[in-house]
Amino acid sequence: MKNMSLRAKITLWFSAVLIVIAVITFAVILSVSGRVIQSSIQDQLITAVDDNADEVELSHDSIFSDDADESDDNSHGMGSGHASALSGSGIEVDDDFMENVNGVTTSIYNGSGKLIYGSDPLSGADMPDFSDGNVSTVKYQSVTYYVYDRRLSGEHHGGIWLRGVISDSQGTAQISAIARLSLIALPLLILIAILGGWLIAGRSMKPVRQLTETAEEISQGSDLKKRISLGKGSDEIHRLADSFDAMFGRLDRAFTAEKQFTSDASHELRTPLAVITSQCEYTLEAPRTADEYVEALETVQRQSARMTGLVSDMLSFTRIEQNAGKTVFEAVDLTALTQSICSDMALIADKGISLRFDAEDGVTVRGNADLLTRLLTNLIGNAYRYGRENGHIDVTLRKEGGSALLTVKDDGIGISADDLPKIFDRFYRADKSRSVKGTGLGLSIVKEIADLHGGTVNVESEPGKGSKFTFKSPCIQG
Ligand code: ADP
Repeated sequence: MKNMSLRAKITLWFSAVLIVIAVITFAVILSVSGRVIQSSIQDQLITAVDDNADEVELSHDSIFSDDADESDDNSHGMGSGHASALSGSGIEVDDDFMENVNGVTTSIYNGSGKLIYGSDPLSGADMPDFSDGNVSTVKYQSVTYYVYDRRLSGEHHGGIWLRGVISDSQGTAQISAIARLSLIALPLLILIAILGGWLIAGRSMKPVRQLTETAEEISQGSDLKKRISLGKGSDEIHRLADSFDAMFGRLDRAFTAEKQFTSDASHELRTPLAVITSQCEYTLEAPRTADEYVEALETVQRQSARMTGLVSDMLSFTRIEQNAGKTVFEAVDLTALTQSICSDMALIADKGISLRFDAEDGVTVRGNADLLTRLLTNLIGNAYRYGRENGHIDVTLRKEGGSALLTVKDDGIGISADDLPKIFDRFYRADKSRSVKGTGLGLSIVKEIADLHGGTVNVESEPGKGSKFTFKSPCIQG
């Protein structure tokens, strides 16, 4: 059972339930139709006898006298010699009296139980006593008969009795016809239902098979580009397949980004390493002057510093990514945090740039103070790095519709429209000549931190005029 396919299990369970239902239905059909047929046969019997009762007329003066009894004896003896048997008995039977109708045989008996009119279909059977308006059952030669009596006169001794008899055999024939039909139709219906169930189960399981196969292919061949692609549909299987596809998509993007990151990182590190190697080789080729050695050492120092910066930024980036789920978030007073960072950074006063800070009081966000510090220093650091001589940096903070809105604006070199969409990519640097120090990771770290806070970071810039970076994050009301 454990190794059975889901399709077989569903069909088996469905079939078992169906068979039980069919057996119960069969039993109910037989029992109900048996009862209905029995009651309709009895109704038939009662109607026939009651109709015949209306066709018999009695003369009360003579029929119950001993003479009459005598003549009854005669009539009984004569079987169905009705006219003579009835003569002098005081009974008159109309022509409309139906002795045999719809399988009902009606006979007339006198008070002593002697047959005086009609025939006795059950002569020899052990007949019940006459009982007015009562249907009784008699078993005779393995056939069941229903017997119904009507008393025509209650005032005189014995009275006159009409007794109708009908065989149960026509009911049995009807029931066995129903049974035969049910025995053919029910298994046929079960078979069709099982077949349909098998097909539907197969069709419903198809997406699951597709899902399993794709997952297996991905795990064996590591081809994250594969998708289940079930198409349109809103049932559970389609939703599951869509979630799997979304997950494969995320995995694919994560792996691609990982690969890209490794290749970019090695590429970025290769340049300073190559510079250091060739500088060392060149310097060691021949004896050099002291100044030349100093120059060579300065180059090595610069490139090492660059590599240190790169490695440190790469580590920060990886740590932020890896610890995303473990980062502790708490209420952070962004106003106070920004103010203190601005005061510290204003001390840089690089290129004679002045930093101005304007903030609304008590703007609080749910966040991580260390990460937010990193975000702010990166943005303000860039504003200094790409700012113009004696320029200005404006940092503002305010609340806007449930969000904290932090802007860092400079009047520096600006960013071209071509570069704007790429500056948040890892290792991307707009300045191809690399005249300004940097790793190309600062803004991707900013974006990662903004994402972690459920916020966004955007940029507006005009080359030669300056840039404005905006960080927007949900803020705590209060
Ligand atoms: P980098 O270490 O090179 O500054 P970032 O990721 O911080 O790396 O920035 C990526 C690129 O975006 C930079 O190389 C620079 O060309 C551009 N950039 C970032 N901030 C500014 C700014 N305030 N003004 C002009 N260009 C900027």
